[in-house]
Amino acid sequence: MEPVFILRYAEIGLKGKNREFFEKKLIENVLSIVRPAAVNKRYGRIVVRVGRNDPNELESRLRYVFGIQNYSYGWSVPHDYELLKQLALEIAREKVSQGFKTFKVSAKRGYKEFPKNSLEINREVGAFVLEHFPQLTVDVHNPEFQIGIDVREKEILVFTEKHALYGGLPVGVSGKALLLLSGGIDSPVAGWYAMKRGLEIQTITFLSPPMTTEKSVQKILDLGKVLARYVPGTLKMWIIPFTPVQMYIKENAPDEYSLILQRRSMMRIATMLARRNKLKAIITGETLGQVASQTLSNMAAIEDASGLIILRPLVGFDKLETTKVAKEIGTFEISILPYIDSCVAFAPKHPATSCNINTIREIEKRLEKLPDLEYEVFKKRELFKITSGPMAQESQF
Ligand code: ATP
Ligand code: MG
Repeated sequence: MEPVFILRYAEIGLKGKNREFFEKKLIENVLSIVRPAAVNKRYGRIVVRVGRNDPNELESRLRYVFGIQNYSYGWSVPHDYELLKQLALEIAREKVSQGFKTFKVSAKRGYKEFPKNSLEINREVGAFVLEHFPQLTVDVHNPEFQIGIDVREKEILVFTEKHALYGGLPVGVSGKALLLLSGGIDSPVAGWYAMKRGLEIQTITFLSPPMTTEKSVQKILDLGKVLARYVPGTLKMWIIPFTPVQMYIKENAPDEYSLILQRRSMMRIATMLARRNKLKAIITGETLGQVASQTLSNMAAIEDASGLIILRPLVGFDKLETTKVAKEIGTFEISILPYIDSCVAFAPKHPATSCNINTIREIEKRLEKLPDLEYEVFKKRELFKITSGPMAQESQF
């Protein structure tokens, strides 16, 4: 008998042909987060062997693996019916001592060679428990505790509770994308949702040195460390010193369009980086109608500069919803620090809320030095790598 975590993954179970690929990725991701604990695949389940590791520590890490629907802490026993009954008794003893009065046994027999079927296991193990603890009664509809028994080909898994996790898809199965990460509340949450749908991400941030300081860089890296908890391997974070582009736009374009033009430059630079790194989409924290830059026509004008798919996971969110998630995942406290991503001096006083793409393209054409400046700041990009996992560390390259 040994302690295990039993991980279940409902959504992946539905993926038919892709199942093997998803499972392989999920196991890889689980392994990278629970190492040095060992991991086994069991049909529709992943079993983490606690071994000499601290179960509390392992448990706290499991929430960082997207793709797990729920988990149980429990035990693995060999195909030995007597041993199974003894274990059920131990569980009942513990629950009785905590004051529980009703229970049920719910067995599943995935391994059909096992000599008892699930009904027999329910009945016989239940009766065995009742013999020893007559103060207990069986309640099949609303028991105070359950003894879950999952008979698998190589072992029997026993557990009492299921704890829900985030679900989603294992990071990596949906491909790779680039997150436009500002220091605000929205974009880290957008990145989190993108990862939850199986995207592996890198991040890009545009800063305005020397008006933005090292503190802004640190803030971005700290946001990255939170996101990196969900990333198997390392999280690559790119920082672009954007000031020359911003200054040029500010000085040479109509003020009301400067925001859109800056965003278009960001898009082009991000797209360059994405193409070089084989990242297939760009993710932003935009939501519809929140601010001037996020009207449909302005979004269209910004998107026009890219040519890649732009994903906006938060499009249907209002600020309260986004804030709630930001608090839950731990980015909120970092996002509200006062260190800005981009100097306010470059923001227009009255940004246009609707614009015509052709007008924007015309204005842009007259900004002759823009392509060179964009390439120049692109070449000055800095790369930071955050090692993943619960103890995320940063290092610069
Ligand atoms: P956030 O809370 O994510 O900063 P926001 O509500 O401030 O978003 P905008 O300022 O319009 O909205 O930014 C929209 C999106 O554009 C951001 O969510 C982010 O993805 C991207 N973005 C904005 N500024 C930057 C920046 N300096 N570096 C990288 N991405 C940025
Ligand atoms: Mg912002």
